[in-house]
This record gives sequence, structure tokens and C-alpha cells, in this order.
Amino acid sequence: MSVTTIAVIGAGVIGLSSSYQLARRGARVILLEKDAVGAGASSRAGGIITGHLWSKTGIEARKISLRLYQELSEELSAYGYQYQAVGCLNLFSPADWRERKNLLPLYAECKLDYGILDAAEIRRRWHQLTPADDMVGLFDPLGGYSEPDDYIPALAQHCRALGVDIRERVTVTEFVEERGQIIGIIAAGELLAADQVICCAHSWTNRLLAEVGVQLPMKSFVHQRYLTAPLEKAARLPAVNANPYGVYLRPAKANRILVGGETANRPEQATPSLAFDMDELLAPRGFDDSLYDKAQALMPALAQTRFQEERVGLISFSMDGEPILGALPDRPGLLLGTAFHSGGFAYNPVAGKLLADLATAGETELNIAAFSPGRFNSLAAAAYSSAKLRQKQVFSRRH
Ligand SMILES: Cc1cc2nc3c(=O)[nH]c(=O)nc-3n(C[C@H](O)[C@H](O)[C@H](O)COP(=O)(O)OP(=O)(O)OC[C@H]3O[C@@H](n4cnc5c(N)ncnc54)[C@H](O)[C@@H]3O)c2cc1C
Repeated sequence: MSVTTIAVIGAGVIGLSSSYQLARRGARVILLEKDAVGAGASSRAGGIITGHLWSKTGIEARKISLRLYQELSEELSAYGYQYQAVGCLNLFSPADWRERKNLLPLYAECKLDYGILDAAEIRRRWHQLTPADDMVGLFDPLGGYSEPDDYIPALAQHCRALGVDIRERVTVTEFVEERGQIIGIIAAGELLAADQVICCAHSWTNRLLAEVGVQLPMKSFVHQRYLTAPLEKAARLPAVNANPYGVYLRPAKANRILVGGETANRPEQATPSLAFDMDELLAPRGFDDSLYDKAQALMPALAQTRFQEERVGLISFSMDGEPILGALPDRPGLLLGTAFHSGGFAYNPVAGKLLADLATAGETELNIAAFSPGRFNSLAAAAYSSAKLRQKQVFSRRH
């Protein structure tokens, strides 16, 4: 029986997970990365994971991700990786809670675990958190975080051990088409033939797709997160999405706290060139100080420390806020996985599984029509693509 050759573009967490899943299925996998493994958004992520999403498909997919994260913890423990199942607390103002409450019947239908906590109960469970009296917490006991600096090298090492050929500093510049079928790519000037090509190029996706006359309705925005200097003692906290405070935070290695937040008024980032490096991005001047003040209002113990490290990257959103994952309708041989909003780290294990299922079996157990690249109305998609939007004008999605 012949071995299937799959070319995967982009060694962020989506490309790595796809490669890992494909290698386990016996495929020959070549993973091409224009920079170094993880150099895109993945190494900049906060790594927060929750199953409390907005759509049935998203929720069912995240359930698989959470299970796979637990399994990967065992498989990657040899490389020092552990999923941190500290839970994830989503905080709401009374107005936002009225809206989020409408999703509870869906959570019940999907058999999703959750607890509704008032502010007093939150303060009782986690002494370092001081939410205002009118806040409501929706607690996801299976959520938590995955430390990107541990996870990415461990997954890459495991991929290599499974036979994945990871080629760093190799840029894919073209898709090769024959009679309407994608049969390979051009990388570093050479043709690489493949039975399937999986494009996991995140914000660069539309730059590559322009090659084959396709543009997806997706927008990228600058996003930033910080690490504090170590606290005297480890904080006992869940991961917290504290939207009313405009921040998210979680415990991090070596008694640090990770704090992140978005810049609602910042205009979209134009589709980057293939040469673009996320290190070129800057957070707005003074953003770190204002974020620190907001985080301290929720966690006064932050007064003992300061931010020590900043990471800035891009997050991308599709027109309807759902990921774009699957086959392009009229380009057989090409699969895409992109636009995972600020939740691509949380999605990566299931995204890799779904893409590997599609590449090797042509189908997935989960119905992912809601993620299909072909789901967009072409006129609406063109209007979305040509509009110049700010972060606050796209779907609000936290992890
Ligand atoms: C500051 C910040 C905080 C975040 N926090 C969280 C969080 O807490 N939880 C969460 O779930 N998500 C979070 N995210 C989102 C998450 O990081 C992304 O959704 C996820 O990393 C996307 O993974 P990816 O593999 O698609 O993209 P990337 O990691 O960007 O990988 C794409 C790769 O493709 C490569 N590439 C592009 N074009 C080519 C080409 N032509 N040839 C070869 N290689 C190419 C790039 O160099 C890059 O390495 C955060 C993002 C940021 C920026």
C-alpha cells in the first residue's frame, strides 16, 4: 500500500498538531516553516483553554480538545509537558451575564460541566481575587492552561520522534495545481509533490491563497500579553477571563502571573507579506501600565510585582467568529485551518485531529459544516474583506 505524503504549511500549534495526528496515522509528513517552530502567534499565546464557547460545533470540538490535552499530558510528559487543569473562570458584568445566560441551555444539551458563582463565592474559593459584588462567574472545571514554552517544543520533539520531517526557514511561495487539483507546493524554489496540502499559515493564509485566486473573509488584529516577575508564593488561581476588567490572567511557571488584554480601538492589521515577522509588532505605548492597573483591581496581590516580559502577536477572526477549517470547495487537495480567534491554542489538538481525519479519510466524526471554508455568502464575504475594521467591530471571542 502506498504511503500518503502530506505537506503541512506553518509550524504553529495548528500545523504541529496536524502533523502529529497524521504521523500517528502512518502518513509521511513534511512540515514547512518559514521561520522557527512556534515563531508566529503560538509562542505568544496565553495558553488559556475553556470549553465554554458560543456554538454547538465549537463546544463539541473543544470537548475533544480538552480530552486530547489530558492525553497529551501523558504522552508528552517525557519532554516535561503537563496540562494545567486549574479550571477557567469567565467573569461577567450583570449586562453581559444576561446575554451569556442564554447559552446555558446549549451547555446543558452538550453536557458541559459548569458552575455559576457569585462574587462572594469567587472570593471565598480564590482569596487573591476580589471581583466587584455584582459580578457573576461561570466556572469551567475542565478548563485551565497549557504553557506554550513547554508545549510547543515538546510537541515538536514528539513529532520528530514520530518521523515528521520539520523543515525550518523554508518559505512556501506557491501551490501547484494540475487540472484543478492541488498536487503540491513550491518551497524554497523547489516543487514538493504531495497527496494533500494542509495550510496552517494563520494570518499569512490569504497571502498564500491569493496565488490560487481565493480570499477568506478573515481579519487579523494585534494582541499582547505580559508575564510578571515572580511573586513570593505561587498564586492559587484558575485561569480567569475577566472581560468586565478588560483583562485575562492566569498563574504561570515560577510563581509568575500571566496577564493579557486586547486593544479594542486598534485597526486591523493588513494581510502580512510572507517576509513579515510578528516580532515587528508593538503594543501601544503605555498599554502595559493601564493593563496592569486593570488586573490589579481584580487581583490586588499584583502590587507586589511588575510586568517583566511582553509578547505581542496577531489573532485572526473570520466573518462569523467561527474558525475556518476544512477543504476549499473547488480546490481538491488543499485543506485549511485558520481564524481561530484568540482561542487557537485551545483549539489546536482538535483542529489537528480534524485536519488529519480529512486528509486521510476525507471525513470527520464531528459535523464541522459550521467551520467549512465554503460556508460564506460570497457578496457578504467580499464586503467584510474590503471593510476596514477595528478589533471591537469583530466578534468578541475570548479563548
Ligand atoms: C498575545 C496572544 C495571546 C493569546 N492567548 C491565547 C490564549 O490564551 N488561548 C488561546 O487559545 N489562544 C490564544 N492566542 C491565540 C493563539 O496564539 C492562536 O490562535 C494560535 O497560536 C494560532 O496557531 P497557528 O498555528 O494557526 O498560527 P501561528 O502560530 O501563527 O503559526 C503559523 C505559522 O505559519 C508560518 N508560515 C506562514 N506562512 C508561511 C509560508 N508561506 N511558508 C512557511 N511557513 C509559513 C508562520 O511563520 C507561523 O509560524 C493568543 C494569541 C496572542 C497573539
